[in-house]
Amino acid sequence: MGTVVCKFGGSSLADDRQVAQVRRIIESDSRRCLVVPSAPGKRDDSDTKITDLLYLCHELARQSLDYSQPFAMVRARYEELAARLGTSLNIGRLLDQLKARIDNGASRDFVASRGEFLCGKVISDYLGATFIDAAEVIRFRADGELDPASYRLIREKVDGSGLFVIPGFYGSDPEGAARTFSRGGSDITGAVVARAVDAEVYENWTDVSGLLMADPGLVPDARPVREITYREVRELAYMGASVFHDEAMFPVRAAGIPIHIRNTNRPRDPGTRILARRELTADLIAGVAGQPAFTMLFIEMAMMNQQKGFGRQVLEVVASHDISYEHTPSGIDTMSVIMRDDQLGGKGERLVDDIQRILQPDRVELLTGLALIATVGEGMSHRIGIAARLFTALADARVNVRVIDQGASEINIIVGVEEADYKRAVRAIYDAFVD
Ligand code: ASP
Repeated sequence: MGTVVCKFGGSSLADDRQVAQVRRIIESDSRRCLVVPSAPGKRDDSDTKITDLLYLCHELARQSLDYSQPFAMVRARYEELAARLGTSLNIGRLLDQLKARIDNGASRDFVASRGEFLCGKVISDYLGATFIDAAEVIRFRADGELDPASYRLIREKVDGSGLFVIPGFYGSDPEGAARTFSRGGSDITGAVVARAVDAEVYENWTDVSGLLMADPGLVPDARPVREITYREVRELAYMGASVFHDEAMFPVRAAGIPIHIRNTNRPRDPGTRILARRELTADLIAGVAGQPAFTMLFIEMAMMNQQKGFGRQVLEVVASHDISYEHTPSGIDTMSVIMRDDQLGGKGERLVDDIQRILQPDRVELLTGLALIATVGEGMSHRIGIAARLFTALADARVNVRVIDQGASEINIIVGVEEADYKRAVRAIYDAFVD
């Protein structure tokens, strides 16, 4: 029988009712024997995530300021959770220990990691599961990367039957100090655990029923995605469409383990399965996603194609301003470099001056106010007429296309449009490809 690793996000653990629901989910399938919890999240819009409260406690303590108020909030939430779930855990003692550590100058990562640690303690007691401290099995190398030894350490600990809880988000460095992944990193812990035990599926339980084919803020009736490939998710996530941590896909992807995004409060919903390959259904695309706030550096120079090293020099100038770029669509005598506005910051004028001085092109200018839209789908590759359909839809919606970039993978066509046309363009593309 295969094993299923279940990661529960902060909203799924926000209060005792949610945790009771988590227990029902786990008990309804005996393959669910590894649980990776986040720290309790917001109970409602006005609430604060435990992790944010802990960061605040650490910051105030670091500045020798009074942190008793946020700490009291952390304490109240865990004590209430433990009491309402009827656990016998001495949560008060664990909180006292945490307070003593903060007073003694504990690191930022250590303090943040306690959100998951304490949550793991409470729920393992409630579920009657074995608690495994992530510090013992999730190891980071000195450069901050995951140490592959973690896979073996996890396997050794979960040997045998039973239910195990491994808190998400943190591990330990070679010196034994606590270290966290980036924000939202419990998804990564779940993926690492899934890979370690060669899980049948990695279930990622959250507060939505999976991915949608477009941002509901732009396309209110956007359909949910049933199945999507790792590659498609990656391309869509790049444009900000994500319910899942970007880096979490890599460990499971390498092992071909499917990820199943599911809604804790609607467990009957099909959710979204992320797989290596999917059946190509009637939908040619998996989704459309975009973002405003890009700027394009446009350069024109006669006979550019014959100048050796021209592109390299352009990119060197961009890098010398400490700007990272996104794409470089180019023509025979033109080249453009697309950057996010927050990367460019106030450096635009100096960048243009440098390009002018160093490369002496015929024309160089910055075009601001660009939105990029990615249309992604495995079904698009090797298929005739896709681009025609896309551009006809945009023309019919009277959207002027400023940039076109089709990645070599052929599963993603990126168009750049004026920010004012952004919403209309996404809607038009969605309607052109989704019934
Ligand atoms: N609790 C951490 C955060 O808020 C990690 C996670 O929830 O995945 O970022």
